[in-house]
Order: sequence, then C-alpha cells, then structure tokens
Amino acid sequence: MSDIPRGAAEFDLIDRIRARVAARADVILGIGDDAALLQVPAGKQLVVATDTLNTGVHFPDDTAPADIGWKSLAVNLSDLAAMGAEPAWCTLSLSLPQADAAWLDAFLDGFLALAAQHDVTLVGGDTTRGPLSICVTVHGFVEPGRALRRDAARVGDDVWISGTPGDAAGALAQWREGASRDATLRVRLDRPMPRVALGRTLANVAHACIDVSDGLLADVAHVCRASGVGIEIEVDRLPASDALRIAFDEPTRRALQATGGDDYELCFTASPQSRDGVERAARDAATPVARIGRVVAGGQVRAIDADGREWQPARPGFEHFAQRP
Ligand code: ADP
Ligand code: MG
Repeated sequence: MSDIPRGAAEFDLIDRIRARVAARADVILGIGDDAALLQVPAGKQLVVATDTLNTGVHFPDDTAPADIGWKSLAVNLSDLAAMGAEPAWCTLSLSLPQADAAWLDAFLDGFLALAAQHDVTLVGGDTTRGPLSICVTVHGFVEPGRALRRDAARVGDDVWISGTPGDAAGALAQWREGASRDATLRVRLDRPMPRVALGRTLANVAHACIDVSDGLLADVAHVCRASGVGIEIEVDRLPASDALRIAFDEPTRRALQATGGDDYELCFTASPQSRDGVERAARDAATPVARIGRVVAGGQVRAIDADGREWQPARPGFEHFAQRP
C-alpha cells in the first residue's frame, strides 16, 4: 500500500478499525469525530491507565501481530484490574512503519478478541507512520472509595498472589537462549490474562494491590514505598505451573518466579481476618490465589526461604529482570 498517498492510507486503516468496533450504550460518540463522547455512570469514579509497547522492548520481535494486539490491551486492562476497576473503553494510538492492512487486521484479531471478553469498546485513537509502537489507554469505573491502591497495605496484612508467577519470564528466558520453546509458557508471555474479575471481587476485601509487570520483588517494593511498610515474601510458597517445573531446575525456577516480569498477576494484601473473604473472592472470579507473605514494619522487601533465611536469586544473571524499569 506504500504507493497510496499517505492521507488516504491512514483513513483506510481507520475505516478498517472502525468497521470492527463493538457498540456500547454509554458511547455517545465513538471513532470518527475530533474526540469521543462518553457517559460516565452516576456515582462512579473514572479510572484511567495507559501503557506503551515498543517492538524489541516489550515483546520479542518474532511475536505474531495478533499476540501484539492482545498484549497491548492486556497490559492496560491489568492496570485497571489492579485498581479493582470495571473496564469500559479504550483508545489506540498506533505508530506503524507502513500502512500494512494485513498486519492491522491480524493485530485487531487479538486486540478485539480480548476487548470482547471484557466488553471494552474502542472509542478513538491516532494512526501515524513511524517505528512500530502501540499506545493504549483504558478507562473504567470503580465505586468511590473502593479502588485498590498501592498505599493501602497495613502492617499485619497477608500478602497474596494470583495464578502461577514466573511463566512469562520462563518463556522469555527460553526465547533468549533459543532453547526448546515451551508453547504453554510462550502463551503466558504472548497472551497474558488480565485478572479483571479478581480485581473486581477483591475490591471489597483487599487492602493494597499491584499487578506484577516488572517482577514480584520489584513490584512489591512499590507497595512498600507507597504504604510505608515492609513486605516479607516466602519464595517457597510461590505457586509454580507444571510447565515451569518441568522446564527449569528449582533454583532457576524460584529466581524466575520471584524476579521475572510480564506475568500480569495480581499481588495484593488483606487482613488475616479476611482469609475466607479472599478465598471467596478468588472462587467467584474463578482465579486461583495463594498466600505468599506478610506485611511488616520497616520499608524493605525481604525474600525468605522456608526456614526464614534470607533468599537471593540463584543466578546473578537473572538480576536484570529485577532491575528492569
Ligand atoms: P484528528 O485529526 O482530529 O486527530 P484523526 O484523523 O487522527 O483525527 O482520527 C479520526 C478519527 O479516527 C478520530 O475519531 C480518532 O479517534 C479515530 N482514530 C484514529 N486512529 C485510530 C486508531 N488507531 N484506533 C481507533 N480510532 C482511531
Ligand atoms: Mg489524530
């Protein structure tokens, strides 16, 4: 399509997007005007999050366009999930090296499949030429005072995690080594499942919450800083998938689980009195959770083994996971 005048190609791409977008009653005006016009429900707070994905930085450069589409929305929905919000709308700003309709159609396959799962409607965006980059903004609602904030952890709280952390980092490690690529792990890297239902059911029971994008220990440090508390993580309690157990020896697996990023699981704190409530919230959301530590006084993250001894990642090589910005 490179011989098509630039403006025409851009509008053709926008038309392709617009033709596939689902309706929502609270979208007064979607794609096509200068801005979207959206009806926020009475009595709700608006929750907004945005995240950019750049090729080679946020996904391996052999990632399929449909997976890029899925992941660019998933990482954003994960931020809403971590706030306990109900997603509603999104915008999509695309920077594309060329006006490639086939690439766009495949990208939309993944993006819109996840959008449909969460009843999220694409209401606008921007389409420009440049290095491949995708910026998504999501909007959702939360009942006033119910948002799950990073600054709400209290000394004495339990610390919980959803799912089986480490799978995405396991896939990335395999990809970097060019080693046997485990499809079960790779799908967890390419198609993360934002824990939206769990975030919603936790909104009435959890205190602080964060989604794990940079690695568990790095991300709980944000909770410590915001809440003015310390957190102890018992690394032996981190639930591991069978695929991860099979693919890596135990020290490596633990390092991947404690410091590996890209899982988009929810890590949250709740009072020990709320353990039944947390289990119920997890059942209602059909999402497994596990208790992995506690909130303590101080300001540090401590990783400990089953005997209460300080734990360090087995291989220094994995520290770059923890240090990713
Ligand atoms: P403007 O010049 O007013 O910014 P654009 O030509 O950029 O308008 O966009 C026209 C319409 O198409 C707007 O409603 C905009 O939100 C929408 N749009 C543009 N690019 C995208 C995209 N990648 N995804 C969804 N909507 C888009
Ligand atoms: Mg524009």
